[in-house]
Formats: sequence, structure tokens, C-alpha cells
Amino acid sequence: MPRHLDTNMSVPRWIILSLTAVVLIAIGLGVWWFATSSTTSAGTDTPSPPPASAGKTDSPSTPSTPATPPVSATPTATPTPVLNPLTGRVDTLDGLVPDYVLPPIENGMVPVLTKVPTEQKVVFLTIDDGAVKRDSDLALLEQHGIKASLFLANTFIANDPGFYKKYTGAGHLIENHTMSHSLGFLKLSYAAQKAEICAMADFEEKQYGRRPVFFRPPGGPYSQATRQAVADCGMKAIVDWEAKANAGGMDYQVGASLRPGDIVLMHFRPEFPADLDAFLAAQKAAGLKVVLLEDYLGTK
Ligand SMILES: [Zn+2]
Repeated sequence: MPRHLDTNMSVPRWIILSLTAVVLIAIGLGVWWFATSSTTSAGTDTPSPPPASAGKTDSPSTPSTPATPPVSATPTATPTPVLNPLTGRVDTLDGLVPDYVLPPIENGMVPVLTKVPTEQKVVFLTIDDGAVKRDSDLALLEQHGIKASLFLANTFIANDPGFYKKYTGAGHLIENHTMSHSLGFLKLSYAAQKAEICAMADFEEKQYGRRPVFFRPPGGPYSQATRQAVADCGMKAIVDWEAKANAGGMDYQVGASLRPGDIVLMHFRPEFPADLDAFLAAQKAAGLKVVLLEDYLGTK
């Protein structure tokens, strides 16, 4: 305390003390305001962690808002669908005009295809039976943009036929592979074969909303009675194969690679992913495009 203040009684001590208190409070408020305003402005600029002073001053600072990335105005790239000039519908042909026409029923018997006789760079995937039902297998086909013809037998799908609506919903088609998948099918009478084929065609039409047009006998063998029974059930052809994806590899009945027009056999089996990989490798090596058989033959 300065000495002259002691002697000068015109300024009482309490006034000096009061002024000192006011000055100290003003300084304190100034520090608080500065700390608060700098905290708030820093929070809007960067999502840095809050300064240590924020907790001490108990400031009402707004929570820091991280900068949001700008919304992209670019639409996701989707391939332009190509209409089939013959049907006017979108399909797997992408504008390709097939150079082969499925022969008609002759003498009451459907034609038989083991491959499509064409030099166009196409290959067809068929998948049989339906025993193993996994969403992941469908996802693999979708991932590669492939549509297939599914030859299903009732005995394999009866426990969950609705599962295959996921496939039809994704653009795959369901064809006929008998009710019971009897490997003695060829020994059955015409009437017994017809009963197997017609019952499955009826079942699939009711279940999936489309009557199958192609038939594949269990194991592949057929007779004139089979060709007749298929025609009499309102269907158009027997479809077999000369190449198959099996046990993670490719088996060829002719040659050592895929050829234009090949119909490839696969199964809904545990090794589906490995079989599909084998098929895709062979298809790419041969430079072929995977096309839905029903698109190519105009029997969708
Ligand atoms: Zn089969």
C-alpha cells in the first residue's frame, strides 16, 4: 500500500478496495469471454479435439461439427439396356441377332439340343437339380452379370420351392427336370415319362408363373418316347449338354475348350463357387458371351 494513501483521508480505504475488486472482476470476465469466443470459432473450423480450457470455464460451446463431404451430383453409371429387335424386350443378347432358329415339333417329337449350332460367340449356362439352396450362389451369378436356365426336379426343391422365386425375380428361368429325378427314367413307359414331365411342368407353372419350355432327362439319356412325351406336355425341346463344370474344373465331351454355342451343365452343389469359377475362366479364355438360352432361341 503506497504510503501517501495512508495519510490522504479524502479517499477512504473501502473505496480503493471496491475499485480493486471491480477491476479484478472485469479482468476475469474479459479472460472468460476471450476463452469462450475462441473455443467456439475453433470448433466450427476444424474437428480438432476441444481445448483444455473448455472444461474449466464450463463454456456453452457448441459441439464441434465435422465437415461433411460434398454430395456428389454424378449419377451412378448403369449400362444402357438394349432392346431385342425381335421381341422388343430387354434381354441378355445386348442387340445380338441370333442366326439359329429352334426346329419345330416334327412327327409329334420335340427336337434335341446338346449345343446350339452357331459360330456366334455365345455360350449358355444351365444349372440342375436344386438340392443346395444358397443366397450366396445367386449373388455370385448376379455379381458376374450372368443369367442361367435352371433345370429343377421336384424331389430336390419340394422342401422350399419358394426359394427359387429369388432366381426368377432376378431374371433367371426355370425349366423342367422331372418330378422324382429317377435315374431309371429311360426305362419308364411313355405314359409314366409323360406323367413325370407334365406334373413338373404344371407344378412350375403354378409355382413360378411361367410354363417351362425345355426338358432335361435325369442323367441326360432320352428316347423317342421321351421326345413325344415332352411335346405332349406342351414343351418345345430336350436340352442336354456337351460340356460341364464339375468338381471345380471343366469336362468336355468334344475338344478341350468351350466352343461357340456350347450348352454348359452345372449343379446346385456345395462346390458351386469353384464350378462357376471354372466356367468363367473357360468362357473368358474362349472369348464367349454368356447368353440366356431362352433369349437366344426366342422361347422366353
Ligand atoms: Zn439332375
